[in-house]
Amino acid sequence: MAYLTPDKTAELNGVTVKEYLLTRHNPNRIAMPTISMEGKIIGVTVHNTDWINVSPDTTPAEQYTRATRNGNMNDVRVHYYVDNKCAWQNLPLDLSGWHAADGSGSGNRKTIAIECIMSSAYNADDRASEDNCARLAAALLKQYGLGIEHLYTHTHWLNVRDGRKGSTDTLNTMYHSYKMCPAYILPHWAAFKAKVVGYLGEDTAAAEKPSAPAASAPDTATTSYRVRVTIDDLNIRTGPGTNYPTTGKFTGRGVFTIVETQGTWGRLKSGAGWISLGYTVKIG
Ligand SMILES: [Zn+2]
Repeated sequence: MAYLTPDKTAELNGVTVKEYLLTRHNPNRIAMPTISMEGKIIGVTVHNTDWINVSPDTTPAEQYTRATRNGNMNDVRVHYYVDNKCAWQNLPLDLSGWHAADGSGSGNRKTIAIECIMSSAYNADDRASEDNCARLAAALLKQYGLGIEHLYTHTHWLNVRDGRKGSTDTLNTMYHSYKMCPAYILPHWAAFKAKVVGYLGEDTAAAEKPSAPAASAPDTATTSYRVRVTIDDLNIRTGPGTNYPTTGKFTGRGVFTIVETQGTWGRLKSGAGWISLGYTVKIG
């Protein structure tokens, strides 16, 4: 049995994330989404897919990724499969997926999809999967500067598709005859959400620790602040927008000082250029 080998493995908010992008690995020429979500991401959509028993040499998220690569997942394409041990990333975050059954609606075209692998038993493995899903969802919301009201269920997008109205959470949990998804999380959606809030907060506290002197002196550089870049390959551009050319340089991960902000773009103190703040976390 040939298991997949990830291109990269990283820790994200306590979750081991293995990157295996189908845009880079497509030996079977499966159909792939092509619509860019760059600058358009409005949230994270949570799904459940059924637990599968796998060899001890691998995990369900790897097996789902492999099934997708091998053309056995029909037309489902998601950003992450998450199980009790890790997550496998299948799509770049700025590429739309196929998961929300809302066609060219905002679910598919503007949200990052997490498929949480669980069973109805809600046993220890299921709870561990759900915990990884909550951690990952929090990390992604944070990465895009989005709050908990940007956490969606699959069912939310079905309700929107069918013209129903209400708050995010009303639509997240409103009965839809086609599908209630995430099926195993929805019965305790409020508790799950609270968990994501917890991980959002925890992360904030950790990030702010090193930059919180007790000094009460007024901050003279009121337009200047520090951000942590959360991706490896953030482009530096000559101006505040994707319409400006890239400088050919990347920031790399780390902490940077922003001295000017325009919309969702920040100018680097170093003078190197501008970066999209959507891939950063403000730390002070
Ligand atoms: Zn779903």
